[in-house]
Amino acid sequence: MTAVAAATVRQYGHHIGGEQVDGTLIDRHDPARGQLVARFAEGSSRDVDRAVKAARQVFTSRQWSRLTATDRAGLLEAFAALVTEHRDRLAGIDSVEVGKPLRFAQGDIDLGIAHIRQAAALARTARGEAFTDVAPGYTAIATRRPVGVAGLIIPWNFPGLITLQKLPYALAAGCPVVIKPSEFTSGSALELAALAETAGFPPGAVNVVTGYGPVTGAALVQHPDVGYVSFTGSTATGRAVLRDSATTITRVGLELGGKAANVVFADADLDAVADGVVFGAFANQGESCVAGSRLIVQEAIAAELSAEVVRRAARLRVGMPDDPASDLGALIHHRHRDSVAAAVTAGTDLGAEVLLGGQAPAETDLADGAFFLPTVLGSVAAESPVFQEEIFGPVLSITTFQDEDDAVRLANATRYGLAQSLWTKDVDRALSVGNRLDAGTVWVNTTSDGAPELAFGGVKGSGFGRDAGAEGLREFTEYRTLQLRGERRPSPFASGERQ
Ligand code: NDP
Repeated sequence: MTAVAAATVRQYGHHIGGEQVDGTLIDRHDPARGQLVARFAEGSSRDVDRAVKAARQVFTSRQWSRLTATDRAGLLEAFAALVTEHRDRLAGIDSVEVGKPLRFAQGDIDLGIAHIRQAAALARTARGEAFTDVAPGYTAIATRRPVGVAGLIIPWNFPGLITLQKLPYALAAGCPVVIKPSEFTSGSALELAALAETAGFPPGAVNVVTGYGPVTGAALVQHPDVGYVSFTGSTATGRAVLRDSATTITRVGLELGGKAANVVFADADLDAVADGVVFGAFANQGESCVAGSRLIVQEAIAAELSAEVVRRAARLRVGMPDDPASDLGALIHHRHRDSVAAAVTAGTDLGAEVLLGGQAPAETDLADGAFFLPTVLGSVAAESPVFQEEIFGPVLSITTFQDEDDAVRLANATRYGLAQSLWTKDVDRALSVGNRLDAGTVWVNTTSDGAPELAFGGVKGSGFGRDAGAEGLREFTEYRTLQLRGERRPSPFASGERQ
Protein backbone atom coordinates (compact mmCIF):
# COMPACT_ATOMS: atom_id res chain seq x y z
CA MET A 1 0.00 0.00 0.00
CA THR A 2 1.28 3.46 -0.78
CA ALA A 3 0.60 6.74 0.95
CA VAL A 4 -2.48 8.62 -0.22
CA ALA A 5 -1.60 11.40 -2.66
CA ALA A 6 -2.85 14.82 -1.58
CA ALA A 7 -4.87 15.09 -4.80
CA THR A 8 -7.03 12.01 -4.03
CA VAL A 9 -10.43 13.14 -2.77
CA ARG A 10 -11.90 10.48 -0.50
CA GLN A 11 -15.64 10.61 0.19
CA TYR A 12 -17.27 8.95 3.18
CA GLY A 13 -20.65 8.52 4.79
CA HIS A 14 -21.14 7.61 8.44
CA HIS A 15 -20.34 4.00 9.28
CA ILE A 16 -23.42 2.64 11.05
CA GLY A 17 -24.34 -1.01 11.52
CA GLY A 18 -21.81 -2.01 8.88
CA GLU A 19 -23.31 0.29 6.26
CA GLN A 20 -22.35 3.60 4.78
CA VAL A 21 -25.00 6.19 5.69
CA ASP A 22 -24.81 9.33 3.58
CA GLY A 23 -25.44 12.90 4.66
CA THR A 24 -24.70 16.47 3.65
CA LEU A 25 -20.96 16.66 3.05
CA ILE A 26 -18.29 18.67 4.87
CA ASP A 27 -15.22 19.42 2.73
CA ARG A 28 -11.78 18.89 4.24
CA HIS A 29 -9.05 20.92 2.56
CA ASP A 30 -5.61 19.83 3.64
CA PRO A 31 -3.86 22.45 5.76
CA ALA A 32 -0.54 22.27 3.88
CA ARG A 33 -1.63 22.89 0.27
CA GLY A 34 -5.27 23.94 0.67
CA GLN A 35 -6.46 21.16 -1.66
CA LEU A 36 -9.72 19.31 -1.21
CA VAL A 37 -8.69 15.90 0.16
CA ALA A 38 -11.80 14.42 1.77
CA ARG A 39 -15.54 14.84 2.24
CA PHE A 40 -17.22 13.66 5.43
CA ALA A 41 -20.91 13.41 6.23
CA GLU A 42 -22.37 16.01 8.59
CA GLY A 43 -24.11 14.00 11.28
CA SER A 44 -27.23 14.85 13.27
CA SER A 45 -28.52 13.61 16.62
CA ARG A 46 -30.66 11.14 14.61
CA ASP A 47 -27.53 9.63 13.07
CA VAL A 48 -26.04 9.28 16.56
CA ASP A 49 -29.24 7.63 17.80
CA ARG A 50 -29.13 5.20 14.89
CA ALA A 51 -25.49 4.35 15.59
CA VAL A 52 -26.10 3.85 19.32
CA LYS A 53 -29.07 1.59 18.50
CA ALA A 54 -26.89 -0.46 16.12
CA ALA A 55 -24.23 -0.83 18.84
CA ARG A 56 -26.85 -1.65 21.47
CA GLN A 57 -28.33 -4.33 19.22
CA VAL A 58 -24.90 -5.95 18.97
CA PHE A 59 -24.38 -5.71 22.74
CA THR A 60 -27.66 -7.46 23.52
CA SER A 61 -27.30 -10.07 20.77
CA ARG A 62 -26.59 -13.72 21.54
CA GLN A 63 -23.82 -13.62 18.96
CA TRP A 64 -21.97 -10.97 21.03
CA SER A 65 -22.68 -12.34 24.48
CA ARG A 66 -21.45 -15.79 23.41
CA LEU A 67 -18.08 -14.36 22.33
CA THR A 68 -15.57 -15.20 25.03
CA ALA A 69 -12.76 -12.84 25.98
CA THR A 70 -10.45 -15.25 24.14
CA ASP A 71 -12.64 -14.93 21.03
CA ARG A 72 -12.42 -11.14 21.29
CA ALA A 73 -8.63 -11.39 21.67
CA GLY A 74 -8.50 -13.45 18.47
CA LEU A 75 -10.57 -10.86 16.61
CA LEU A 76 -8.29 -8.10 17.89
CA GLU A 77 -5.23 -9.99 16.66
CA ALA A 78 -6.83 -10.29 13.22
CA PHE A 79 -7.59 -6.55 13.39
CA ALA A 80 -3.94 -5.80 14.30
CA ALA A 81 -2.78 -7.82 11.29
CA LEU A 82 -5.10 -5.88 8.96
CA VAL A 83 -4.09 -2.50 10.37
CA THR A 84 -0.45 -3.53 9.87
CA GLU A 85 -1.22 -4.41 6.25
CA HIS A 86 -2.90 -1.01 5.73
CA ARG A 87 -0.43 0.94 7.89
CA ASP A 88 0.97 3.19 5.17
CA ARG A 89 -2.44 3.98 3.71
CA LEU A 90 -3.83 4.89 7.15
CA ALA A 91 -0.76 6.96 7.94
CA GLY A 92 -1.09 8.71 4.57
CA ILE A 93 -4.66 9.69 5.42
CA ASP A 94 -3.69 11.08 8.84
CA SER A 95 -0.67 12.86 7.37
CA VAL A 96 -2.72 14.65 4.70
CA GLU A 97 -5.69 15.50 6.94
CA VAL A 98 -3.65 16.66 9.96
CA GLY A 99 -0.78 18.21 7.98
CA LYS A 100 1.88 16.21 9.86
CA PRO A 101 4.98 14.68 8.23
CA LEU A 102 4.26 11.18 6.95
CA ARG A 103 6.91 9.42 9.07
CA PHE A 104 5.34 10.80 12.26
CA ALA A 105 1.92 9.57 11.09
CA GLN A 106 3.46 6.15 10.42
CA GLY A 107 4.89 6.12 13.94
CA ASP A 108 1.40 6.92 15.28
CA ILE A 109 -0.15 3.93 13.48
CA ASP A 110 2.67 1.67 14.65
CA LEU A 111 1.96 2.65 18.24
CA GLY A 112 -1.75 2.14 17.54
CA ILE A 113 -1.04 -1.43 16.37
CA ALA A 114 0.88 -2.05 19.61
CA HIS A 115 -2.23 -0.89 21.51
CA ILE A 116 -4.42 -3.40 19.64
CA ARG A 117 -2.02 -6.22 20.53
CA GLN A 118 -1.85 -5.06 24.14
CA ALA A 119 -5.66 -5.00 24.36
CA ALA A 120 -5.79 -8.53 22.91
CA ALA A 121 -3.33 -9.73 25.56
CA LEU A 122 -5.37 -8.07 28.32
CA ALA A 123 -8.60 -9.63 27.05
CA ARG A 124 -7.01 -13.07 27.34
CA THR A 125 -5.90 -12.48 30.91
CA ALA A 126 -9.01 -10.66 32.25
CA ARG A 127 -9.92 -11.98 35.67
CA GLY A 128 -12.07 -11.20 38.66
CA GLU A 129 -11.63 -12.00 42.34
CA ALA A 130 -13.30 -14.28 44.82
CA PHE A 131 -13.97 -13.68 48.56
CA THR A 132 -14.44 -16.88 50.48
CA ASP A 133 -14.33 -15.78 54.12
CA VAL A 134 -16.46 -12.64 54.27
CA ALA A 135 -18.94 -14.46 56.59
CA PRO A 136 -19.60 -18.09 57.51
CA GLY A 137 -20.73 -19.96 54.42
CA TYR A 138 -20.63 -16.77 52.39
CA THR A 139 -18.77 -16.54 49.08
CA ALA A 140 -18.63 -13.60 46.72
CA ILE A 141 -17.33 -13.40 43.18
CA ALA A 142 -16.38 -9.98 41.85
CA THR A 143 -16.16 -9.51 38.10
CA ARG A 144 -15.78 -6.64 35.72
CA ARG A 145 -18.63 -6.50 33.21
CA PRO A 146 -18.66 -4.36 30.05
CA VAL A 147 -20.48 -1.02 30.51
CA GLY A 148 -22.48 -1.54 27.31
CA VAL A 149 -22.18 0.88 24.41
CA ALA A 150 -19.14 3.15 24.69
CA GLY A 151 -18.81 6.56 23.03
CA LEU A 152 -15.31 7.54 21.87
CA ILE A 153 -14.71 11.22 21.09
CA ILE A 154 -11.43 11.87 19.26
CA PRO A 155 -9.49 15.12 18.62
CA TRP A 156 -7.64 16.06 15.44
CA ASN A 157 -3.98 15.95 16.47
CA PHE A 158 -3.44 12.15 16.61
CA PRO A 159 -6.62 10.83 14.95
CA GLY A 160 -5.48 7.27 14.21
CA LEU A 161 -3.44 6.85 17.37
CA ILE A 162 -6.02 8.20 19.82
CA THR A 163 -8.74 6.09 18.16
CA LEU A 164 -6.50 3.04 18.70
CA GLN A 165 -5.67 4.15 22.24
CA LYS A 166 -9.36 3.62 23.08
CA LEU A 167 -11.12 1.36 20.53
CA PRO A 168 -9.27 -1.96 21.12
CA TYR A 169 -9.59 -1.65 24.90
CA ALA A 170 -13.35 -1.06 24.55
CA LEU A 171 -13.68 -4.11 22.29
CA ALA A 172 -11.47 -6.20 24.56
CA ALA A 173 -13.78 -5.33 27.47
CA GLY A 174 -16.82 -6.35 25.41
CA CYS A 175 -18.18 -2.90 24.52
CA PRO A 176 -19.45 -2.04 21.04
CA VAL A 177 -18.61 1.59 20.24
CA VAL A 178 -19.75 4.73 18.52
CA ILE A 179 -16.80 6.89 17.50
CA LYS A 180 -17.06 10.64 16.93
CA PRO A 181 -13.83 11.86 15.27
CA SER A 182 -12.96 15.50 14.58
CA GLU A 183 -14.60 16.84 11.43
CA PHE A 184 -11.11 17.80 10.18
CA THR A 185 -9.61 14.32 10.48
CA SER A 186 -12.30 11.65 10.26
CA GLY A 187 -10.68 9.46 7.59
CA SER A 188 -8.67 7.04 9.72
CA ALA A 189 -11.52 6.30 12.17
CA LEU A 190 -13.83 5.42 9.25
CA GLU A 191 -11.17 3.22 7.66
CA LEU A 192 -10.46 1.50 10.99
CA ALA A 193 -14.18 0.72 11.48
CA ALA A 194 -14.25 -1.02 8.07
CA LEU A 195 -11.07 -2.96 8.90
CA ALA A 196 -12.52 -4.09 12.25
CA GLU A 197 -15.44 -5.63 10.38
CA THR A 198 -13.15 -7.28 7.86
CA ALA A 199 -11.29 -8.75 10.86
CA GLY A 200 -14.54 -10.37 11.98
CA PHE A 201 -16.18 -7.99 14.45
CA PRO A 202 -19.93 -8.02 13.69
CA PRO A 203 -21.45 -5.04 11.85
CA GLY A 204 -22.56 -2.54 14.49
CA ALA A 205 -19.68 -3.31 16.88
CA VAL A 206 -17.73 -0.31 15.56
CA ASN A 207 -19.77 2.65 14.33
CA VAL A 208 -18.53 6.09 13.31
CA VAL A 209 -20.66 9.23 13.13
CA THR A 210 -18.86 12.24 11.67
CA GLY A 211 -19.76 15.90 11.83
CA TYR A 212 -19.58 18.77 14.29
CA GLY A 213 -18.86 18.18 17.96
CA PRO A 214 -21.55 20.39 19.52
CA VAL A 215 -24.16 18.36 17.58
CA THR A 216 -22.92 14.78 17.24
CA GLY A 217 -20.50 14.70 20.18
CA ALA A 218 -23.06 16.24 22.50
CA ALA A 219 -25.78 13.83 21.28
CA LEU A 220 -23.48 10.90 22.02
CA VAL A 221 -22.75 12.09 25.56
CA GLN A 222 -26.46 12.73 26.24
CA HIS A 223 -27.71 9.44 24.78
CA PRO A 224 -29.35 7.30 27.51
CA ASP A 225 -28.04 4.04 26.02
CA VAL A 226 -24.36 5.02 26.17
CA GLY A 227 -22.70 3.51 29.23
CA TYR A 228 -19.39 5.34 29.17
CA VAL A 229 -17.83 8.17 27.15
CA SER A 230 -14.09 8.30 26.63
CA PHE A 231 -13.26 11.84 25.54
CA THR A 232 -9.95 13.33 24.43
CA GLY A 233 -9.89 17.01 23.59
CA SER A 234 -9.57 20.47 25.03
CA THR A 235 -10.33 21.36 28.63
CA ALA A 236 -13.11 23.73 27.50
CA THR A 237 -14.93 20.99 25.56
CA GLY A 238 -14.26 18.52 28.38
CA ARG A 239 -16.18 20.83 30.69
CA ALA A 240 -19.16 20.78 28.25
CA VAL A 241 -18.96 16.96 28.11
CA LEU A 242 -18.99 16.76 31.91
CA ARG A 243 -22.04 19.06 32.08
CA ASP A 244 -23.87 17.03 29.42
CA SER A 245 -23.06 13.75 31.13
CA ALA A 246 -25.04 14.96 34.16
CA THR A 247 -28.30 14.69 32.20
CA THR A 248 -28.04 10.90 31.97
CA ILE A 249 -25.54 10.29 34.83
CA THR A 250 -23.14 8.76 32.31
CA ARG A 251 -19.62 8.04 33.48
CA VAL A 252 -16.97 9.86 31.43
CA GLY A 253 -13.20 9.73 31.07
CA LEU A 254 -11.66 13.08 30.18
CA GLU A 255 -8.19 13.28 28.63
CA LEU A 256 -7.80 17.04 28.34
CA GLY A 257 -5.16 19.62 27.58
CA GLY A 258 -1.71 19.96 29.08
CA LYS A 259 1.14 22.40 29.67
CA ALA A 260 4.06 20.09 30.34
CA ALA A 261 7.35 21.42 31.64
CA ASN A 262 10.89 20.18 31.15
CA VAL A 263 12.42 20.89 34.54
CA VAL A 264 16.20 20.86 34.07
CA PHE A 265 18.71 20.81 36.92
CA ALA A 266 22.30 21.96 36.41
CA ASP A 267 23.69 18.42 36.86
CA ALA A 268 21.74 17.02 33.88
CA ASP A 269 23.29 15.72 30.65
CA LEU A 270 22.79 18.89 28.59
CA ASP A 271 23.22 17.18 25.22
CA ALA A 272 20.37 14.75 26.00
CA VAL A 273 18.31 17.57 27.49
CA ALA A 274 18.65 19.77 24.39
CA ASP A 275 17.50 16.91 22.15
CA GLY A 276 14.63 16.04 24.48
CA VAL A 277 13.45 19.62 24.83
CA VAL A 278 13.45 20.19 21.06
CA PHE A 279 11.65 16.89 20.45
CA GLY A 280 9.11 17.46 23.22
CA ALA A 281 8.28 21.00 22.15
CA PHE A 282 8.21 20.64 18.36
CA ALA A 283 7.21 17.06 17.46
CA ASN A 284 3.78 17.01 15.81
CA GLN A 285 4.19 20.80 15.29
CA GLY A 286 3.67 21.20 19.04
CA GLU A 287 0.06 20.04 18.55
CA SER A 288 0.36 17.52 21.32
CA CYS A 289 -1.28 17.46 24.73
CA VAL A 290 2.03 16.33 26.26
CA ALA A 291 4.16 18.86 24.35
CA GLY A 292 6.96 20.09 26.61
CA SER A 293 6.05 23.67 25.88
CA ARG A 294 7.77 25.08 28.98
CA LEU A 295 11.51 24.83 29.63
CA ILE A 296 12.11 25.52 33.32
CA VAL A 297 15.86 25.56 33.77
CA GLN A 298 18.21 26.14 36.70
CA GLU A 299 19.72 29.59 36.43
CA ALA A 300 23.36 28.42 36.38
CA ILE A 301 22.95 26.65 33.03
CA ALA A 302 20.08 28.70 31.55
CA ALA A 303 22.15 30.71 29.01
CA GLU A 304 24.09 27.68 27.77
CA LEU A 305 21.04 25.42 27.44
CA SER A 306 18.86 28.12 25.84
CA ALA A 307 21.50 28.77 23.19
CA GLU A 308 21.82 25.05 22.45
CA VAL A 309 18.04 24.55 22.23
CA VAL A 310 17.73 27.52 19.86
CA ARG A 311 20.60 26.19 17.73
CA ARG A 312 18.98 22.74 17.38
CA ALA A 313 15.45 24.08 16.87
CA ALA A 314 16.71 26.39 14.11
CA ARG A 315 17.85 23.30 12.17
CA LEU A 316 14.32 21.79 12.06
CA ARG A 317 12.79 21.82 8.59
CA VAL A 318 9.23 23.08 8.21
CA GLY A 319 7.75 21.65 5.03
CA MET A 320 5.19 19.61 3.19
CA PRO A 321 3.90 16.50 5.02
CA ASP A 322 4.88 14.24 2.11
CA ASP A 323 8.45 15.61 1.92
CA PRO A 324 10.70 13.12 3.77
CA ALA A 325 12.95 16.03 4.77
CA SER A 326 10.18 17.78 6.76
CA ASP A 327 10.38 17.76 10.55
CA LEU A 328 7.30 19.91 11.11
CA GLY A 329 4.29 20.06 8.81
CA ALA A 330 1.34 22.46 8.78
CA LEU A 331 -0.90 23.29 11.72
CA ILE A 332 -4.46 21.95 11.58
CA HIS A 333 -5.97 25.05 9.91
CA HIS A 334 -5.29 28.73 9.30
CA ARG A 335 -7.50 29.86 12.19
CA HIS A 336 -5.38 27.78 14.55
CA ARG A 337 -2.16 29.16 13.01
CA ASP A 338 -3.48 32.67 13.69
CA SER A 339 -4.26 31.79 17.30
CA VAL A 340 -0.69 30.47 17.76
CA ALA A 341 0.67 33.74 16.32
CA ALA A 342 -1.64 35.73 18.64
CA ALA A 343 -0.39 33.76 21.66
CA VAL A 344 3.21 34.65 20.75
CA THR A 345 2.26 38.33 20.50
CA ALA A 346 0.49 38.15 23.87
CA GLY A 347 3.74 36.78 25.32
CA THR A 348 6.01 39.41 23.80
CA ASP A 349 3.59 42.16 24.91
CA LEU A 350 4.27 40.98 28.46
CA GLY A 351 8.05 41.04 28.07
CA ALA A 352 8.98 37.71 26.50
CA GLU A 353 11.88 37.84 24.07
CA VAL A 354 11.67 36.04 20.68
CA LEU A 355 14.86 33.92 20.50
CA LEU A 356 13.72 32.01 17.39
CA GLY A 357 10.82 32.02 14.92
CA GLY A 358 7.67 33.81 15.99
CA GLN A 359 6.14 33.87 12.54
CA ALA A 360 5.14 31.90 9.47
CA PRO A 361 7.98 30.68 7.22
CA ALA A 362 8.95 32.96 4.33
CA GLU A 363 9.23 30.24 1.64
CA THR A 364 6.76 30.94 -1.16
CA ASP A 365 5.93 27.24 -1.68
CA LEU A 366 4.60 27.17 1.90
CA ALA A 367 2.58 30.38 1.51
CA ASP A 368 -0.82 28.67 1.09
CA GLY A 369 -0.41 26.40 4.10
CA ALA A 370 -1.01 26.91 7.82
CA PHE A 371 2.71 26.72 8.65
CA PHE A 372 4.46 28.28 11.63
CA LEU A 373 8.16 28.30 12.47
CA PRO A 374 9.56 26.62 15.58
CA THR A 375 9.47 29.43 18.11
CA VAL A 376 11.48 29.93 21.29
CA LEU A 377 10.55 32.66 23.76
CA GLY A 378 12.98 33.69 26.50
CA SER A 379 12.40 35.57 29.79
CA VAL A 380 8.84 34.26 30.17
CA ALA A 381 7.21 35.09 33.50
CA ALA A 382 5.01 32.52 35.26
CA GLU A 383 2.04 34.90 35.06
CA SER A 384 2.30 35.17 31.27
CA PRO A 385 -0.42 33.44 29.20
CA VAL A 386 2.43 31.84 27.20
CA PHE A 387 3.44 30.03 30.40
CA GLN A 388 -0.11 29.35 31.60
CA GLU A 389 -2.19 28.48 28.54
CA GLU A 390 -1.98 25.57 26.13
CA ILE A 391 -0.93 27.09 22.79
CA PHE A 392 -0.94 23.78 20.91
CA GLY A 393 1.65 24.95 18.41
CA PRO A 394 5.45 24.98 18.02
CA VAL A 395 6.11 27.48 20.81
CA LEU A 396 8.57 26.87 23.65
CA SER A 397 8.86 29.26 26.59
CA ILE A 398 11.95 29.51 28.81
CA THR A 399 11.81 30.40 32.51
CA THR A 400 14.56 30.04 35.11
CA PHE A 401 14.59 28.74 38.69
CA GLN A 402 16.98 28.89 41.64
CA ASP A 403 16.37 25.77 43.74
CA GLU A 404 14.21 22.64 44.01
CA ASP A 405 11.27 24.32 45.72
CA ASP A 406 11.27 27.05 43.11
CA ALA A 407 11.37 24.46 40.32
CA VAL A 408 8.42 22.49 41.73
CA ARG A 409 6.41 25.67 42.35
CA LEU A 410 6.90 26.81 38.73
CA ALA A 411 6.22 23.40 37.19
CA ASN A 412 2.96 23.09 39.15
CA ALA A 413 1.89 26.71 38.62
CA THR A 414 -0.62 26.01 35.83
CA ARG A 415 -4.13 24.55 35.97
CA TYR A 416 -2.96 21.50 34.01
CA GLY A 417 -1.47 18.21 35.18
CA LEU A 418 -1.03 15.83 32.25
CA ALA A 419 2.73 15.26 31.97
CA GLN A 420 6.04 16.71 33.20
CA SER A 421 9.68 15.93 32.50
CA LEU A 422 12.51 16.12 34.97
CA TRP A 423 16.19 16.10 34.00
CA THR A 424 18.84 15.31 36.61
CA LYS A 425 21.52 12.69 37.29
CA ASP A 426 20.73 12.73 41.02
CA VAL A 427 18.52 9.71 41.81
CA ASP A 428 17.38 11.09 45.18
CA ARG A 429 16.27 14.29 43.49
CA ALA A 430 14.57 12.35 40.67
CA LEU A 431 12.44 10.55 43.25
CA SER A 432 11.70 13.47 45.55
CA VAL A 433 11.03 16.10 42.87
CA GLY A 434 9.38 13.58 40.55
CA ASN A 435 6.82 12.73 43.23
CA ARG A 436 6.05 16.40 43.84
CA LEU A 437 5.17 17.23 40.23
CA ASP A 438 1.44 17.47 39.38
CA ALA A 439 0.93 15.07 36.48
CA GLY A 440 -0.47 11.72 35.47
CA THR A 441 2.92 10.99 33.85
CA VAL A 442 6.35 12.16 35.02
CA TRP A 443 9.32 11.38 32.80
CA VAL A 444 12.85 11.41 34.21
CA ASN A 445 15.66 12.05 31.73
CA THR A 446 13.27 11.51 28.81
CA THR A 447 10.12 13.10 27.45
CA SER A 448 6.99 12.34 25.39
CA ASP A 449 7.59 8.61 25.87
CA GLY A 450 5.12 5.87 26.56
CA ALA A 451 4.10 2.28 26.01
CA PRO A 452 0.74 0.55 25.58
CA GLU A 453 1.28 -1.19 28.93
CA LEU A 454 1.23 2.19 30.70
CA ALA A 455 -2.10 3.90 31.33
CA PHE A 456 -2.24 7.52 30.32
CA GLY A 457 -4.26 10.46 31.65
CA GLY A 458 -4.13 13.58 33.75
CA VAL A 459 -4.84 15.27 37.05
CA LYS A 460 -6.18 18.78 37.81
CA GLY A 461 -7.49 20.58 34.69
CA SER A 462 -6.09 17.82 32.46
CA GLY A 463 -9.01 15.62 33.44
CA PHE A 464 -9.51 12.19 34.95
CA GLY A 465 -9.77 8.59 33.81
CA ARG A 466 -7.10 6.68 31.93
CA ASP A 467 -6.54 5.40 28.40
CA ALA A 468 -4.56 2.25 27.56
CA GLY A 469 -3.08 -0.57 29.59
CA ALA A 470 -5.06 -2.52 32.17
CA GLU A 471 -6.38 0.71 33.72
CA GLY A 472 -7.62 1.87 30.32
CA LEU A 473 -9.50 -1.38 29.76
CA ARG A 474 -11.01 -1.17 33.23
CA GLU A 475 -12.63 2.18 32.30
CA PHE A 476 -14.94 0.27 29.94
CA THR A 477 -16.15 -2.03 32.70
CA GLU A 478 -18.29 -1.96 35.82
CA TYR A 479 -17.46 -3.77 39.04
CA ARG A 480 -20.16 -6.28 39.94
CA THR A 481 -20.43 -8.79 42.74
CA LEU A 482 -22.28 -12.08 42.83
CA GLN A 483 -22.82 -13.09 46.46
CA LEU A 484 -23.73 -16.61 47.50
CA ARG A 485 -24.80 -17.83 50.94
CA GLY A 486 -24.19 -21.48 51.66
CA GLU A 487 -25.98 -21.27 55.03
CA ARG A 488 -29.37 -19.81 55.91
CA ARG A 489 -29.26 -16.04 56.52
CA PRO A 490 -29.94 -15.25 60.25
CA SER A 491 -32.91 -12.92 60.80
CA PRO A 492 -32.21 -9.56 62.50
CA PHE A 493 -35.87 -9.02 63.45
CA ALA A 494 -37.00 -9.41 67.05
CA SER A 495 -40.36 -10.93 66.02
CA GLY A 496 -38.89 -14.26 65.12
CA GLU A 497 -36.53 -16.16 62.97
CA ARG A 498 -38.96 -16.55 60.06
CA GLN A 499 -40.58 -13.54 58.37
P1 NDP B 1 -11.79 19.83 20.99
O1 NDP B 1 -12.03 19.80 22.44
O2 NDP B 1 -12.21 21.00 20.23
O3 NDP B 1 -12.51 18.59 20.29
C1 NDP B 1 -12.30 17.26 20.67
C2 NDP B 1 -13.43 16.41 20.13
O4 NDP B 1 -14.63 16.77 20.81
C3 NDP B 1 -13.71 16.63 18.64
O5 NDP B 1 -14.13 15.44 18.04
C4 NDP B 1 -14.84 17.63 18.70
O6 NDP B 1 -15.60 17.66 17.52
C5 NDP B 1 -15.63 17.10 19.87
N1 NDP B 1 -16.56 18.08 20.46
C6 NDP B 1 -16.61 19.43 20.30
N2 NDP B 1 -17.62 19.95 21.02
C7 NDP B 1 -18.21 18.91 21.67
C8 NDP B 1 -19.30 18.81 22.61
N3 NDP B 1 -20.00 19.87 23.01
N4 NDP B 1 -19.61 17.59 23.08
C9 NDP B 1 -18.92 16.49 22.71
N5 NDP B 1 -17.88 16.53 21.82
C10 NDP B 1 -17.53 17.72 21.33
O7 NDP B 1 -10.25 19.49 20.82
P2 NDP B 1 -9.41 19.50 19.49
O8 NDP B 1 -9.96 18.54 18.49
O9 NDP B 1 -9.27 20.93 19.12
O10 NDP B 1 -8.02 18.87 19.98
C11 NDP B 1 -7.09 19.60 20.61
C12 NDP B 1 -7.21 19.48 22.12
O11 NDP B 1 -7.19 18.12 22.50
C13 NDP B 1 -6.07 20.13 22.85
O12 NDP B 1 -6.53 20.97 23.87
C14 NDP B 1 -5.29 18.98 23.46
O13 NDP B 1 -4.62 19.21 24.61
C15 NDP B 1 -6.33 17.97 23.64
N6 NDP B 1 -5.73 16.65 23.61
C16 NDP B 1 -5.61 15.96 24.76
C17 NDP B 1 -4.99 14.74 24.79
C18 NDP B 1 -4.93 13.96 26.04
O14 NDP B 1 -4.79 12.76 25.99
N7 NDP B 1 -5.03 14.55 27.20
C19 NDP B 1 -4.41 14.14 23.59
C20 NDP B 1 -4.61 14.94 22.42
C21 NDP B 1 -5.26 16.16 22.45
P3 NDP B 1 -15.32 18.83 16.44
O15 NDP B 1 -13.91 18.69 16.03
O16 NDP B 1 -16.26 18.49 15.37
O17 NDP B 1 -15.62 20.12 17.13
